Amino acid sequence: MATETLLVGLGLIAAGMAGATAFLVRSAAEAQRRARSWVALYLLAMMGEMWVGVIVYLRAPSIGSLVAGLAVSGVLMVATVAPLLGALLRARGAPGSGLGEGIAAPYLGPGLAVLLAALVLVSEFLMSWGLLLAQGVPAVSGGWLAVFVGTINSPWFVFTMAAEMFLTAALLWRLLPRAILTVLLLQAAIMVFTPTALGGTTWSPLAIYASSALMIGLFVFLFEYLYRYRQLSAPFGDYLVELVAVYGLMMAGLFVWQYFGDATAFAVAIVLEMVVVFAAVSRPSRFRDAPSTPWQLRPAWTFALLSGVFVAEVCMGAVLSVQLDPAAYLGGFPFLPLAGPAGTIALNALSNGFWFFATAAGSSWFLIMMGLEMGALVVFKFRETKNLENRVRLGLMMGCYAAFAVFYPSLYFALLYPNQPNPSTVPFLGWPMGIGSYPLAVGVFGAVLLTYVITGALVALFGRRVVCAVFCTAPMMYLGTTIDSMKSFNRSSPIARKYLSSRFSSAYSITLGLVMVALVGTSVLSYLDSIGALSVYIQGTDPSVFFFIASFSVGWYVLFVAIPYAGNYNCVTMGWCYTGVIAQAFQKIGAFKLKVRDKQVCKDCPTLDCAKGCPVGLTDMVGHFRQTGEFRSTKCCGVGDCIEDCPYDNLYISDIRHTVRRWLGRAETRPRRTGAPTPGPRAVAASFVGASPGALAEGAVLLPMAGSRVAVARPQVP
Ligand code: SF4
Ligand code: SF4
Repeated sequence: MATETLLVGLGLIAAGMAGATAFLVRSAAEAQRRARSWVALYLLAMMGEMWVGVIVYLRAPSIGSLVAGLAVSGVLMVATVAPLLGALLRARGAPGSGLGEGIAAPYLGPGLAVLLAALVLVSEFLMSWGLLLAQGVPAVSGGWLAVFVGTINSPWFVFTMAAEMFLTAALLWRLLPRAILTVLLLQAAIMVFTPTALGGTTWSPLAIYASSALMIGLFVFLFEYLYRYRQLSAPFGDYLVELVAVYGLMMAGLFVWQYFGDATAFAVAIVLEMVVVFAAVSRPSRFRDAPSTPWQLRPAWTFALLSGVFVAEVCMGAVLSVQLDPAAYLGGFPFLPLAGPAGTIALNALSNGFWFFATAAGSSWFLIMMGLEMGALVVFKFRETKNLENRVRLGLMMGCYAAFAVFYPSLYFALLYPNQPNPSTVPFLGWPMGIGSYPLAVGVFGAVLLTYVITGALVALFGRRVVCAVFCTAPMMYLGTTIDSMKSFNRSSPIARKYLSSRFSSAYSITLGLVMVALVGTSVLSYLDSIGALSVYIQGTDPSVFFFIASFSVGWYVLFVAIPYAGNYNCVTMGWCYTGVIAQAFQKIGAFKLKVRDKQVCKDCPTLDCAKGCPVGLTDMVGHFRQTGEFRSTKCCGVGDCIEDCPYDNLYISDIRHTVRRWLGRAETRPRRTGAPTPGPRAVAASFVGASPGALAEGAVLLPMAGSRVAVARPQVP
């Protein structure tokens, strides 16, 4: 009973601190007089100083420590008054001094905002430390690091911080833009579900699932926001990048806590998040006042955002895997000791990083999580897709992801063969693997050959879209609203521009050649290993399997976050995916092509939206439409954005179905809709906010003919 009463009392103190802190943050944020800002900062400092005295007493309660505590707090408070008075006197008579008239804009500058965040943090830290001492928790009586980690991860700190974030959002809701408020509220909810706060076998798993789900929700919200509002102010952009970087560190810290039992990195992430939050929300006006720019013209910013989100997701995948399936996940991670000479440590760290990344990115839970997140963006895209064939393809793509990335490898295979290794670690002669060495390859040779024949036949009949826009997991990641809109980088990035158009540039041929040599080389090695002629393994892994893992569990994701430089759908545009290259070969002999209903419409077309909308950068399609009325490219993977974006409904995909109709003497397809052109909703022109499609077509964007470069429109932002 006494303990419960104590807890209620301490809880009321924490609630009072949270309310007072949020009120002072708002006061400082709104202040248009120096005096008010400084007084708010002073009161925040005083709250921390008060707790210093409490801690001095509680660390060794006695009359002596009580006197010492009161003395220390008193001295600190008096000492803090001096700079406050000095600042006020120095500012006397200046606009906004507090003695004269106020200033129009809030007073708090960047330096003072960071000071405010630091004061909030320190006073909350001291309060939590004090409450833990009052509770008699031994963990915070050790060394300084133990005090830091134990206090930050304590329920007093994280729940009070979460309450402060909720209250600050409520108090500043008139001043903060709606998007920031949403982000702040989601952050506060994530903070509530801090797995380290209460520990235990119920809270930690619950908190891990809830915080992961909320973080996925936050990322979906951010991505969709970026898609709908292509421009954002620099302060908001900076805030988002800082936030996702902190979340990356937080999820990595959570993994370290699970794996090694050390919560230091997680505590550091919490502290950084608080600094980011309070330094930002204490200056709400700058979110509204700063000019906005299109993020599609800021590759470095986009790269930073994607990287932060991705690191958080990979670590979240690892955390969920350890939580849900520790035996399978921890056994699949060959951790090398970080000891010995510097060179050995560096190599072992590199190997650990590679395998951590590969294992996490290949795990079921990572794929499920990415499926939910990227799938949500695909659903948004589905809702604005008009063309029936495109809608069917998007539906099939989502179904295939659920079946082939989640159900079959993670559920079906595991249930059917509980004692077999993960299928992705078994080399065999298969579409993605090359020639494998494992005896299983011989056993399933017939079945695997059949998959080649069936997939190849489907590609020949319906185009490589069967593989590259339906079966493969990659299109789920590429084709959701926001990531799809990053195809603008295919035209603006100097690297991505080398791979534009349907022709095989030297860069493309070199990439493709290297990949195919590596595929054949590792496959031959694998085969020679299997017959005992050689014994070549890469870190104990079959060479063809290692190449597969390096390509699809590591390389693919690295190039995914590098979209702002390498362009969207870069596995296709650069030709580095051997699966896509094999599909490409079948497309070469197949019936698949793009056709127009009326060549003259293309000749008169001022928009060229089809080419702008192509996610694999086939910018030369218009020239072919105008000359021959059709376009064949082995790079085309049938996504259909060109069809969606053509304002004249003049375009369709022709495959075996249309060929058969032609053989039967029937019309290949329905006639073109007549009437006024309807601009495609996802035309790249529209992605550059501030530039009308017409303005782009008039000369800003030039489609390359005969290998000329594409000039990118850069609209002036007012
Ligand atoms: S090129 Fe490869 S990774 Fe890209 S969509 Fe096609 S099969 Fe998938
Ligand atoms: S947007 Fe339509 S009409 Fe214009 S060139 Fe492309 S296919 Fe032809």
